Amino acid sequence: MKSFYMIVLTLCYSVNAFCQTEDSLSIATKTTPKITLETSFPIVSLALLNFQNTSDRIQSKDWIAENWNTKVFNPYKKQRKQYPLHITFDDSTYASPIPRNKVVTSRYGWRNRRAHNGIDIDLITGDRVMSMFDGVVRYVNRHSGHGKTIVVRHFNGLETVYAHLSKQLVKVNDTVRKGQVIGAGGTTGNARGSHLHLEIRFKGIPIHPEYLFDFSDEENIVRANSIWINEKWTTAYRHNSKRKSNVEVCTTEAEAAQSKADEKKIYTVRRGDTLSRISSKYNVSIATLCKENAIRKTATLRIGQKLIVTQ
Ligand SMILES: [Zn+2]
Repeated sequence: MKSFYMIVLTLCYSVNAFCQTEDSLSIATKTTPKITLETSFPIVSLALLNFQNTSDRIQSKDWIAENWNTKVFNPYKKQRKQYPLHITFDDSTYASPIPRNKVVTSRYGWRNRRAHNGIDIDLITGDRVMSMFDGVVRYVNRHSGHGKTIVVRHFNGLETVYAHLSKQLVKVNDTVRKGQVIGAGGTTGNARGSHLHLEIRFKGIPIHPEYLFDFSDEENIVRANSIWINEKWTTAYRHNSKRKSNVEVCTTEAEAAQSKADEKKIYTVRRGDTLSRISSKYNVSIATLCKENAIRKTATLRIGQKLIVTQ
């Protein structure tokens, strides 16, 4: 105990000395000698450094240990979703999951009245499929329409899902490196032609892959080191699998809050609704409704259909 007080006293004295020195430096002239700063400063900085290290350790989470289940595709199913999601990346690039130019044949979004929770990237059966980042293989199985599937959990909690594979070349709990071959592409499950169905999940929630990563060229860019994700980017019906969504990535919590405030409202069509009724209810022209939702004026609305009702 005594030594503890001694340390505290030393620290207080050092901080004090440091502050006074700072003050006197800013007020006094340049003729001030080098004084005792050299002895007191290292003690203070060392203390601060240790404190920072401790807080870093508390914040950094062992994502591999959390909800680790090699038997089920989504071990987070029962967890409550909380937005915005926040993901950090150490890498500024990802490894391309396929060894050729990435041709996206279908995007994340609404497709044939169902959610398409990933993107489809064209490939030839037998093409190598690579892990996008370092990580640990969590799931290797057949997963309904996905066919032969591999899920890799990465160290920031993100999971990448590789589906319709012809070969799975890793086992669960294997550690994989960024760019390491984990399987071969194919058509297993519900795939019309050979392609890679790639999903990006965080706590089980499928995120629009193009919100996080740029797939349009060979640079393989991770859009930011810190990305905040609103519900919009995890909701397939807010996107069209045939159209590229306009990505403006939020890199701070404040940006995410602002982006959410600016978000377009979605209306679910009920029995008896017409375009003109929705138009007057939300004070938005029929022409805008048609343009925003890519529908014709004569389109028949279905009950349950989602429409963007803001400009
Ligand atoms: Zn797909």
